[in-house]
Amino acid sequence: MNDSIGRKITYLRLSVTDLCNLRCRYCMPEKGVCPKSHDEILTEEEMVSAVRAAVGLGVTKVRITGGEPLVKKNILSLCERIASIDGVSDLALTTNGTLLPKMAEDLKSAGVNRVNISLDTLKPQKYTYITRRSSFEEAIDGITAALNAGFKKVKINTVLIGGFNDDEIPDFAKLTMASPIDLRFIELMPVYQSPDIGPEAYLPASKILEALPDLKEEPSDGVARLFSFEGAQGKIGIISPMTNDFCASCNRIRITADGKIKPCLHSPAEYSIKGLSEAEMKAQIIKAINEKPDRRGELNCLNPSNSGRYMNQIGG
Ligand code: SAM
Ligand code: SF4
Repeated sequence: MNDSIGRKITYLRLSVTDLCNLRCRYCMPEKGVCPKSHDEILTEEEMVSAVRAAVGLGVTKVRITGGEPLVKKNILSLCERIASIDGVSDLALTTNGTLLPKMAEDLKSAGVNRVNISLDTLKPQKYTYITRRSSFEEAIDGITAALNAGFKKVKINTVLIGGFNDDEIPDFAKLTMASPIDLRFIELMPVYQSPDIGPEAYLPASKILEALPDLKEEPSDGVARLFSFEGAQGKIGIISPMTNDFCASCNRIRITADGKIKPCLHSPAEYSIKGLSEAEMKAQIIKAINEKPDRRGELNCLNPSNSGRYMNQIGG
């Protein structure tokens, strides 16, 4: 389905839980978020119906996210059911990777074909600082497990954080030489106003190109500008939602674990589907797409996002 300015909506990001086993400083507060009661969260049946309704309107790509999707008890059955919906041609999942050592193969068997693993540092002590948890080894083992499980694509998502990991850009980039891993650098967005994240943390993606002068640009049909090194096994993507927003070509909607359709990450507009029949959900999705904002407003550390939620309650 096209929205009011002709953007074709083909991509659904489904957040399956707000809960997470990490506490990344730029994403959510240390104490976590007040857990929602069972009846406030979409049931497995409702999540499957919502995806089916979206697919009936032209969605073909679904990404499962969270919170941390792998802490959800029924994640395998949910993935299996979503993967088998006629019309879902691509089922991807974004995870912090810490539970992949024991789950990668089962996720692959359940029909997930691509995983993005979030990792913001290659140094164990810095990992413990940024995530407030000591799971570095599990995350690294998770990347290995994903590569061994044979997913079509394994990507690492790295949020660029000034004064924290900008000195590691070359080390991250080298990962694409040694393994068939694609790397995505993402500009930090002011969604959660964390006391630990100051204005210096918001770096433009151009810093990456300055740090990696030997990169060659490649053709891209998505939101990332793509680059690679000569002889590399993986590509390097740069996603710059702050300095070069992609609102004009935005093809996505989001559904939160508590059953709110968010047609724009940075808008407070939400459309509830909790407790609705599949036909009623479809009507709400149509309304959300028709009313999808044309553009996000001004966004910088002084003008934070209007999303009204922490990032773990939206899914990125
Ligand atoms: N827990 C999973 C993970 O970390 O991959 C999935 C959910 S997490 C909210 C999805 C993505 O959003 C992660 O790659 C994370 O780094 C990113 N993210 C969280 N807060 C962000 C922010 N303020 N700006 C940019 N990306 C952010
Ligand atoms: Fe959890 Fe992902 Fe947010 Fe980190 S970025 S706290 S892993 S939801």
